[in-house]
Amino acid sequence: MAAGEERELVDVASAIAASAAALLRELAEEDVTEFERLEGPAAALPSATPTAPTTPRSPRSPRSPVTRVAAMVPGTRGPISWNGDRPTLEEVRTELGDCQRCGLHEGRSKIVFGDGHANAGLMFIGEGPGEHEDRQGLPFVGRAGELLTQMIEKGIGLPRRDVYICNIVKCRPPRNRNPLPPEVSACRPFLDGQIRAVAPRVIVTLGKPAASLLLDREVAITRLRGSWQEYQGIPLMPTLHPAYLLRKYTPENRRAVWQDLQAAFERAGA
Ligand code: SF4
Repeated sequence: MAAGEERELVDVASAIAASAAALLRELAEEDVTEFERLEGPAAALPSATPTAPTTPRSPRSPRSPVTRVAAMVPGTRGPISWNGDRPTLEEVRTELGDCQRCGLHEGRSKIVFGDGHANAGLMFIGEGPGEHEDRQGLPFVGRAGELLTQMIEKGIGLPRRDVYICNIVKCRPPRNRNPLPPEVSACRPFLDGQIRAVAPRVIVTLGKPAASLLLDREVAITRLRGSWQEYQGIPLMPTLHPAYLLRKYTPENRRAVWQDLQAAFERAGA
């Protein structure tokens, strides 16, 4: 084996070991000691949650004059570019194409780009697609997705189609592991493109990996949730991942998520 290949293998092994260690820390933080098969329909959030009016959102500022925006993307295709400092989602999706910029393309069935309103005031971001999402090409469509829909529709009274939902990486990591740094780096320009396209007034991150990746530091989600952060000048509310909520469907966790979503909803004026 050539020295370069050996070094590359060592780098990959180190990245996987770091990811595994981070996952173990995350599970420990969330008190996960065993995994169980979840059955039956997702339980609903408390029905006593107030419904918020779905008032029309205030008009968005017009798009800025066209300028050329370019960012270097690691991988097989050089710089990406689109016209305008606020590209459309279609432009970002077109640029993504049949992406092979990182190794995650090898195991995917479908690219999971994103779903929802192109001018949403609220944008939800998870870390990556799971099995159901990979099969359907849509974000948050499994049991965790059902619960997220209930969190949005019953918790804050908005139709799910009025928010925008996506992930940091657009292809499913094997065995649902956390995305590795090179995978996040390769996909990040497209997430940033989506954020520029939608221009949400508030971002809600779902779970520890998404908050850690966007804030560029490892966070303790059970302590950080509910406190305002910022990503690229946009207010960011970290909250628990619906999959975690499914595992620990306690009144305390439901109340915590409901409070986080209410705060995000009010700040977005959605
Ligand atoms: S995860 Fe992102 S960068 Fe990697 S192959 Fe999929 S779309 Fe491309």
